[in-house]
Amino acid sequence: MSEKIALVGIGKIAVDQHIPAITASNEWTLAATVSRSATVEGVEGFADINAMLAARPDINVVSLCLPPQPRFAYAEACLQAGRHVMLEKPPGQTIAEVQALEALATSKGVTLYATWHSRAAKGVAAAKAWLSDKAVQRAHITWREDVRKWHPDQDWVFEPGGMGVFDPGINALSILTEILPQPVHLVGAELSFPANRDTPIAADLRFSGGVTAEFDWRQQGPQSWNIDVATVAGTVQLRDGGNRMMIDGNPVAGGDLDEYPTLYAQMARCLRAGVSDVDLSPMVHVADAFSLGKRQEVEPFHF
Ligand code: NAP
Repeated sequence: MSEKIALVGIGKIAVDQHIPAITASNEWTLAATVSRSATVEGVEGFADINAMLAARPDINVVSLCLPPQPRFAYAEACLQAGRHVMLEKPPGQTIAEVQALEALATSKGVTLYATWHSRAAKGVAAAKAWLSDKAVQRAHITWREDVRKWHPDQDWVFEPGGMGVFDPGINALSILTEILPQPVHLVGAELSFPANRDTPIAADLRFSGGVTAEFDWRQQGPQSWNIDVATVAGTVQLRDGGNRMMIDGNPVAGGDLDEYPTLYAQMARCLRAGVSDVDLSPMVHVADAFSLGKRQEVEPFHF
């Protein structure tokens, strides 16, 4: 049976990924949208979340595609109304916000799913399986992309709660925390803040266990979303945001990018099992980076 779902925040990721994934799935029916400015043809549209929750008691599931800053109030309203909720990444502005949502979901007996779309990339499960019985010697993340290309005019990323370069960087951290056989913790960081902005445009991170990361939003030309994990048995190389996996240059896993269908299939599984799926470990690393990070000021940034 197809489950009715409402989609909230009809912006870039909703249009690029969520609507196609829902529309293509037999498990889901897009039954309503909530947006201050946009509608989806053939789908009932609301401008206000509380109006949708009141008018459509037949919709049990809400997927929130908003930026992290306004997301908590929307999620809280949905959970209070007894709806199951799916959150875009990062699941909130702060760890405590998401913990509050998780407690509310538990008290209401509904599902909360904090999605990490990069964990659904095609090489991630293979990397996790291969590393599961290995000792990691060192690892390095290179996440370098052009913010003007991927977040055109999205000023929220540079506002408090928007996380700056950690908005894409947390995708790498969601993979790292998924594939490493033993957890690591941050030991040092340098964060580069544009003189006119409140969040960093670049970050260099050092973790325990020889793990390092470089995130940079000023990349021109070729973009890099790479993770290398070295062990005595060989080096796992994840490329294209985790979508291709090699060991010492030999392809092991990969394929067409279809992260969002995987997320909606997982939400359906959570509903059937009556469980939540909330892992905050990527956000812990980001919070630690803001806590430990040495700040340096760099040239102002304008879209
Ligand atoms: P976006 O296009 O800038 O915003 C999404 C929508 O959220 C907007 O169109 C707007 O919808 C609503 N919104 C924005 N600010 C709001 C506010 N203050 N109050 C209420 N609604 C507001 O952002 P996005 O790129 O789709 O990203 C949204 C989330 O998806 C982020 O957490 C991001 O990390 C994640 N994500 C993005 C990408 C990507 O490639 N862009 C990829 C993966 C994940 P209405 O005008 O319809 O109300």
